[in-house]
Amino acid sequence: MIVIIRSDASQEKIEHLKKWLTDKELIVREFQGQEQCVLGLIGNTNCVDKDMLKSLDIVESVSDMTETFKASNRKMHPDDSVVKMPFSHGGSSIGGGNFAVMAGPCSVESREQILFIAEEIKAAGANFIRGGAFKPRTSPYDFQGMGADGLGLLVEARKATGLPIVTELMDLRDIDLFMEKEVDVIQIGARNTQNYDLLKELGRMKAPILLKRGLAGTIKELLMSAEYIMASGNENVILCERGIRTYEHDYTRNTLDLSAVPVLKKLTHLPVIVDPSHGTGRADLVESMALAAIAAGADGIMIEVHNDPKNALSDGPQSLTPPQFSELSEKIFALREVVKPWYV
Ligand code: PEP
Ligand code: MN
Repeated sequence: MIVIIRSDASQEKIEHLKKWLTDKELIVREFQGQEQCVLGLIGNTNCVDKDMLKSLDIVESVSDMTETFKASNRKMHPDDSVVKMPFSHGGSSIGGGNFAVMAGPCSVESREQILFIAEEIKAAGANFIRGGAFKPRTSPYDFQGMGADGLGLLVEARKATGLPIVTELMDLRDIDLFMEKEVDVIQIGARNTQNYDLLKELGRMKAPILLKRGLAGTIKELLMSAEYIMASGNENVILCERGIRTYEHDYTRNTLDLSAVPVLKKLTHLPVIVDPSHGTGRADLVESMALAAIAAGADGIMIEVHNDPKNALSDGPQSLTPPQFSELSEKIFALREVVKPWYV
């Protein structure tokens, strides 16, 4: 249920109402915007009389929230959420006009590789380094990632460049390691989007969670997964469209659903970014899809960049070289200037 509070209501009366509602075992989420205060009620709202609520002098209107996603629902939080970096390593916020350019290799392969790519993408204007240390590979015989050593190298790359790191967490058992290394943004990959036990544990981490859309996941399923993380206590969720499985597999690895961007932006206040690398599986399509994502209103993009794509240990065919990324980056920033006023 959504309760819109009148703009002249005193904080004392709002607090009184909140207490009355929480005493009824409802979860009350308060949104204080510049123009509006909204109370979102989660739980069994049958226990409150809607007409009685409407009649209160501090209440402007009351409406039902029929959607199953609650905390992530834009009705709860009409403004865009701004996800901030929680540690002292610096780094940019994401959402509400703050644009993220995440770039780096699919997998961390060596010290030289990650340090070189990190410097190159930074010079090109990226504001986050991405790189997988723990890799979810279709074949158990393929490179599985450098594991904890790879995470250590990402931390070195962060020290060298000052850029925050984004890396994938696959297993509950690695949560403490990720917390100890102060991973700035924790990626939950497409294969784990519905690993609810893992999602529930993310509530005890303060790092933002970059949640990818599942391999054949619907938009609602993605939002419900975000809901698991938020309900467990971590509100800092960034959604990522990375393509879904469709009939097409001859010419693209996945089908990048760019319509998900405006759909999600309407439904939720969470930032939405796009990964055109996994979304297409082809380096030659990354530029057009990255630019299209920006035109569609994305809050950021994630791009795989490798110094030697032909010999990459994973996802070489979809990886840009640093010069290609640098060229794309210029276009990204130029286009962003044009579209920003449409979306902020
Ligand atoms: C990745 O980012 O390298 C990755 C494995 O992504 P996804 O989960 O989208 O396949
Ligand atoms: Mn990859």
